[in-house]
Amino acid sequence: MNYISELRAALGDANVLTDPAELYVYGADWSPMTSSEIRPPDVVVQPKTTRGVQRTVKIAHAHEIPVVAGGGLTGMLGGALALFGGIFIDTTAMNSIIEVDPKNQTVRVQAGATLQEVNDAVNPYGLWLPHQPESKWVSTVGAAIACDNDSTFGVRYGKILNCLLSAEIVTGTGEVLELGHRKAHFTSSGYKLKDLLAGSEGTLGVVTEATLKLEPIPETRFVEMLVFRRMGSAVDYLSRLLKAGVCIEAAHINCKRRLKFYTHAYTAKHGREPEIPTWAEALLAVAFAGDKKISSMQRDYAIDIASEFEAEVVKEREIVESWWASKYTLDFEPFKQKWPDSQKTKKFGAADPGVPVGRLEEFYHKFIEVAEKHNLDIIGMNAYLEHPNSIGFSLSCAVFVDYRNADEVRRFRMFHDELSKLAVEFDGTMSTFMSDTHQKAPYLELEHGNSLKYMKEIKRLFDPKGIMNPGKKFVREEG
Ligand SMILES: Cc1cc2nc3c(=O)[nH]c(=O)nc-3n(C[C@H](O)[C@H](O)[C@H](O)COP(=O)(O)OP(=O)(O)OC[C@H]3O[C@@H](n4cnc5c(N)ncnc54)[C@H](O)[C@@H]3O)c2cc1C
Repeated sequence: MNYISELRAALGDANVLTDPAELYVYGADWSPMTSSEIRPPDVVVQPKTTRGVQRTVKIAHAHEIPVVAGGGLTGMLGGALALFGGIFIDTTAMNSIIEVDPKNQTVRVQAGATLQEVNDAVNPYGLWLPHQPESKWVSTVGAAIACDNDSTFGVRYGKILNCLLSAEIVTGTGEVLELGHRKAHFTSSGYKLKDLLAGSEGTLGVVTEATLKLEPIPETRFVEMLVFRRMGSAVDYLSRLLKAGVCIEAAHINCKRRLKFYTHAYTAKHGREPEIPTWAEALLAVAFAGDKKISSMQRDYAIDIASEFEAEVVKEREIVESWWASKYTLDFEPFKQKWPDSQKTKKFGAADPGVPVGRLEEFYHKFIEVAEKHNLDIIGMNAYLEHPNSIGFSLSCAVFVDYRNADEVRRFRMFHDELSKLAVEFDGTMSTFMSDTHQKAPYLELEHGNSLKYMKEIKRLFDPKGIMNPGKKFVREEG
């Protein structure tokens, strides 16, 4: 019996896809890639339980077949591509909400639930999961953990590890492990193996369930936008707010070019782009949330001190609302606004480095220089603040890429690699929300030096035969 027959026997015929037309859609994600690079897996399985995942991985382990897990396939750097064929585990049928525990403010879910599905289940209890990337409608919990993505509200609630209490995984041998500290918020016991999962890209195992910490839904939210002469002034301004004790719920510094990307609704309505002072280099979108009185006091303080930083508040509310709708509420058909028709010919391509607080502006200018050098159509930079109550950036340095033009795709990759390496020279990191995938794998040692050896050993412990998402994070070793 070959391995596909074994999968059929283990999971049932209906949950095993081999028709090439069905496999084709699993051959690409949202990363800029040419049609010749589409890599359908050999087989797709759609398990509904951890047991189904375990059976799949045990079969793969016995036959040494690659296994790639995926969710919404909206990754932007090819993380879920089955580079070496094999089995694709489509986790989207594993979307049950297992337990909502309002008293302890936790939820236990299957890993294929989208972040939006989690919120739909917990909102009736007055709770929410504040880990909210823009793609929350399709991004699954498992993928949010596996690629360690960004959240709109990172400056208050942090990234996925700040709300991940515990996770169940199926390792590369098919063993089921629970990693974490159940419903306790933290632990000093043992090694923090759960933390290894953030950004692991499915290379250690398939995440099957997760227990997540919830927060009370804030009563009110005020969103403001300010323009600054220089990007560095926006950073200084945020430092001042934090120093004053202001609790910021969301903060995103955009270069002026990037604004256009978020205000498509405004432009569509008015037939022109929003007007921003010509002297402004950067915009800061900032939110304050909680009790109405306290949040409005904080907002008023933020507005009062703006002039000290030569900043101006954007008065035209439609600009602010258009930006916020694009970023968070998405009260339009998802993927039809700022991922408009242009996505049919050009895709959003980004590098996702992290740089020290004081070097943001300097790095921004490097980004423009590198993008221009590679003759790319610049979308602009967004610095997401992702560290709770402090200034820690995750950068999206974005360009449009015509994916039908192989040379442009090649130039995009050179741009991506150059910026990633530059971030290390800047005393920063190559990746803050897309992880490494196969794109950064060849030069990971630049950032990690000798510790790469230990990372490979950890991988071997979880996945001795190297079958879990091979080629991602580490260049695949032959033999
Ligand atoms: C319109 C749009 C907006 C976006 N906005 C944001 C944003 O605001 N912030 C941000 O950071 N990113 C954003 N992204 C990128 C992307 O949506 C996110 O990174 C998201 O987390 C990917 O989720 P997914 O379910 O589509 O993952 P996939 O593309 O299916 O997978 C991503 C990675 O996770 C692994 N994986 C998936 N499920 C599992 C599992 N159960 N166990 C182990 N590994 C697994 C895959 O192998 C792959 O390596 C956006 C993308 C689009 C298209």
